[in-house]
Amino acid sequence: MTRKVLVLEDEANIRSFVVINLKRAGYDAIEAGTGEEALALIQQNPDIQVALLDIMLPGEMDGFEVCRRIRAGNSQMGIIMLTARTQEMDKVSGLMTGADDYVTKPFTPLELLARVNSHLRRYSKYLSALKEDGNKDHIYTIGGLELNEDTVEVSVDGEPVKLTPMEFKIVQLLIKNPGRVFSADEIYERIWNEKAVNTDTIMVHVRNIREKIEIDPANPRYLKVVWGLGYKMEKMS
Ligand code: CA
Repeated sequence: MTRKVLVLEDEANIRSFVVINLKRAGYDAIEAGTGEEALALIQQNPDIQVALLDIMLPGEMDGFEVCRRIRAGNSQMGIIMLTARTQEMDKVSGLMTGADDYVTKPFTPLELLARVNSHLRRYSKYLSALKEDGNKDHIYTIGGLELNEDTVEVSVDGEPVKLTPMEFKIVQLLIKNPGRVFSADEIYERIWNEKAVNTDTIMVHVRNIREKIEIDPANPRYLKVVWGLGYKMEKMS
């Protein structure tokens, strides 16, 4: 099966550079020059597994808005923002709108393909990896927080919560190890199965998770920061 990657980039030379490299690596690259075009293509190609989104775009929508709209209807697609080196805030804003990762321009084909490959590896393993524990119970709870590995659902006090795959993986890791502190590096390495690079993404994902699962994100009940060390899910009786 060909793996489809959406490339949203308005600069024709960057877009063709990305597309050529994706095709060379065996991907089916779908091209868009505006946010509107990208969303229409996603409608027509529900099997797109990863989207690469440039931020500054002509037209009504920027890359953040496109990301937000993709996430509103699809929590499984991998979203990688293509950010400019000078705009540090782009990374954080991108993750805040639901992106999984970012690549900073200018990037080499190797860097880009490494990110895309890790996402695809992760997605293809997504469901099977969730059940790797064999016959054990696949529902984990801490207080009112519940994670079901079979249905890939999370709820708080019975209310369903929509998490991105990356957010789900983080909650899954922490809830299965209650009370244990994980550093950002360790979370990254456990989830991506590779050496930590963009660990600042973990911080933002944690913040997004809190916004979704905590009643008072500033005073969290479940996902706690252990200053200087990392993160943990509180043990509760
Ligand atoms: Ca642009």
